[in-house]
Amino acid sequence: MALLLRFARQWVAGERMEDALRVAKDANARGMDALVNHLGEHYRERAPVEATKAEYLRLLDAMRSDGVRGTVSLKPTQFGVLIDKGYALSQMLPILDATKADGRVLWLDMEHSGTTDDTLWIGERLLERYDRVGICVQANLKRTSADLERLIRDRARIRLVKGAYKETEDIAFRSRSQTDQAYLEHLETLFTKARDFAVGSHDSRMISRALELARQHPTPFEFAMLQGVRDPLKSDLARQGFRVSEYIPYGPNWLPYFSRRLRERPRNIVTMARSFVEG
Ligand SMILES: Cc1cc2nc3c(=O)[nH]c(=O)nc-3n(C[C@H](O)[C@H](O)[C@H](O)COP(=O)(O)OP(=O)(O)OC[C@H]3O[C@@H](n4cnc5c(N)ncnc54)[C@H](O)[C@@H]3O)c2cc1C
Repeated sequence: MALLLRFARQWVAGERMEDALRVAKDANARGMDALVNHLGEHYRERAPVEATKAEYLRLLDAMRSDGVRGTVSLKPTQFGVLIDKGYALSQMLPILDATKADGRVLWLDMEHSGTTDDTLWIGERLLERYDRVGICVQANLKRTSADLERLIRDRARIRLVKGAYKETEDIAFRSRSQTDQAYLEHLETLFTKARDFAVGSHDSRMISRALELARQHPTPFEFAMLQGVRDPLKSDLARQGFRVSEYIPYGPNWLPYFSRRLRERPRNIVTMARSFVEG
């Protein structure tokens, strides 16, 4: 596991909060905001949910005292959405209060499609209390056009990503090109109708199209990318004056996140195998 963690550290800050704070300060120094996530998901018991809530409160405290620019992004299944959506909302409210006290945005990640409706419901309840709430949507899901219209009406912030979860053909696009096409169409919607949003992609085609649309529609938006991916591009965009956020995950439960990163880029598996052989 120690060897695996060494490799995973390209995408994961480390297991401890200090690791996340160090990487977040480094992102700030490179002109980016930090978007910190404490890893852990699919909780079906209240104890890990409540420990997660306490961890985020300590994290936001530390971000405030260390002067870290940025915010946190929560996974609904780490807040107990699989137990009950009302319970998950109740566990997120203290985090909402802490982000609101500092004027930070509160972001919700979007997980597998079984949680989409409940995540939107929670996001809307949070938005009733604070207008700086952002929700992630996934271009690989066929429902996303309708969800986008709904979130734009709600005046939510929106993070557009391609989608990292395996879904079935009845609800999701199977081919990469269909997802890419949907992403490009959603970008158009965001630039023409949305209030403030994040272009969450490392794909040069998506980024070039966003830059083109930004020239036509001077609307507030940011680029958001994962820790360990396309670092020179991130710095370049920040230098050009664009807002850029870096998603920084940390914590001992890094394996599922790490597996998703490997799956979306099989070349990484070869690099990992080589690094193990070469020690
Ligand atoms: C800020 C942020 C937040 C996210 N939040 C969510 C979420 O809440 N829910 C969700 O389902 N998904 C989330 N994702 C993941 C997203 O859905 C995709 O799985 C991921 O971003 C890969 O898609 P891509 O748009 O970068 O394009 P791709 O077509 O996958 O990649 C384009 C190029 O980016 C580079 N690249 C991509 N991935 C890697 C990698 N792992 N290692 C090295 N290089 C890589 C390569 O150069 C590749 O050719 C998030 C992504 C970002 C950037």
